[in-house]
Amino acid sequence: MNGLESIFWQLRDKKYKGINDTYALFQHFYISDGEKIKKWQGNGFYVKGKWRESLKYYMKALCVAENQTEAFATALANRSAALYSLGKYEHSLSDIEKCLLCGYPEKLKFKVYLRKINCYDRIGNAEKAEVTIKETEAFINQNNDYTTEEKESYINKLRNIQRLSSVNLVKNVNNNYKIPNVTRNINFPGATSLIQLSSNSEKGRYVLAEKDVKRGDILFVEKAYAFAPIFDDNLNLPHDRCYYCLIQNIALIPCLHCSSTLYCNESCRSKSWDETHQWECTGFTVNLWGTIGLAFPAYRLCLKNILNCYRLEAENYNLAQKLLTNIAKNENVLEFLVLTMVLVCYFESQTDFFKWLCDKITLEEKKELNIYFGSCLLENVAQIACNASIIEHWNCSDFNDYNSIIPEEKVPIATGLYPAVSMMNHSCKPNVAMYFINDVIIVKAVADIKQGKEVYNCYGIDYRYTRKQERQSLLYMQYHFKCLCEICENPLLEIVSYK
Ligand SMILES: [Zn+2]
Ligand SMILES: [Zn+2]
Ligand SMILES: [Zn+2]
Repeated sequence: MNGLESIFWQLRDKKYKGINDTYALFQHFYISDGEKIKKWQGNGFYVKGKWRESLKYYMKALCVAENQTEAFATALANRSAALYSLGKYEHSLSDIEKCLLCGYPEKLKFKVYLRKINCYDRIGNAEKAEVTIKETEAFINQNNDYTTEEKESYINKLRNIQRLSSVNLVKNVNNNYKIPNVTRNINFPGATSLIQLSSNSEKGRYVLAEKDVKRGDILFVEKAYAFAPIFDDNLNLPHDRCYYCLIQNIALIPCLHCSSTLYCNESCRSKSWDETHQWECTGFTVNLWGTIGLAFPAYRLCLKNILNCYRLEAENYNLAQKLLTNIAKNENVLEFLVLTMVLVCYFESQTDFFKWLCDKITLEEKKELNIYFGSCLLENVAQIACNASIIEHWNCSDFNDYNSIIPEEKVPIATGLYPAVSMMNHSCKPNVAMYFINDVIIVKAVADIKQGKEVYNCYGIDYRYTRKQERQSLLYMQYHFKCLCEICENPLLEIVSYK
């Protein structure tokens, strides 16, 4: 039994049984989405022409509605109208198709059919529009909810429907950003052939330029080893990013069970369920995940390590095993312990996670699976604390003007772990900068770096914004080292006055 395992062994002692009640506490304080949504309903964004805002509401309504019910179909019909108004005809069509198949009141369907015809006209598919007109006519004739007069009036409307001209469509925002093609470094997965991983006793591991690097060269293209989406202050997940792949999409579909997670399509939803969400879903119904901070990405990391143990999938797995924990120096160990214990109790009492885990790993004492898992998890919380990156995406506004996409603001989307990128040391004046496409990080050189010179990242504390004394103490507090970068070592390079 190692040190962390023995801590968990002691925590399982009777004295600490009280922590088992934590889940009940979560349930006690939880305000259901159904209750929250009532407050939204009166706002009527749609009638005021605030379609973008109305989308958020319809998305929430879709989440809280039971799958395949009238409420579900109504949310889809409403969302299709908002999407149509925003010029998102393909998305609108997808919602219309689903809505017509799942319990939308027959009396109201005529309007939805008309929207379907308009959508096909707008995307320039006249053939499909004609087919839909015939489909609508058949629907009216077969419908027993309509009186003869109503049928006549609808047929009349249909025959005189004003056909619309097609418009130029804005491509999906994310399709405009392609992951660059680079020469991959087989000895340093996640990095390009321009750099190399090195180590010595004094510095530990560090990254060097293998060849002369030019400003703008790509040094890393690395997929997150593990990530967990970030919650906003109201404990909601991003309403326009897929929970599984982080792709931006304004017409996502919800999980079939909880009202919190959203997906591009059925495929992302089922992959997410199989890989992680089957054990998370119950926790979402009481806001567990949004409340436990670092323990959420840590659990994802833990799961990834377990999966890679018996079926190696991630190329950066070996590097992930080398990440520092700094656990002995960390002042927050007690907090980490409590978070970890809450999760262990949750998995034990609310899910069949340990049953699943039992088949995956070989332990002499299967009974002590929770102790093994808890200690791994504690280590992973500490690793996340000193290695994780915030995955930020540019929010683009393509809503007001259909022909342009303008980056507006950077928003935090998820916490991700990039083992290769984590191998870079810190400098208060880094020679790289980074951006993200979905869960992939791309790191570029921002200065020329001579062959054999070190490649430095900045751990968020930059000399342009922070004075030396403050930088040094922040870095020591969070990462437990004294910075010896070129700026810290040379007072003449410091900025004299800050604004
Ligand atoms: Zn769910
Ligand atoms: Zn997706
Ligand atoms: Zn420094």
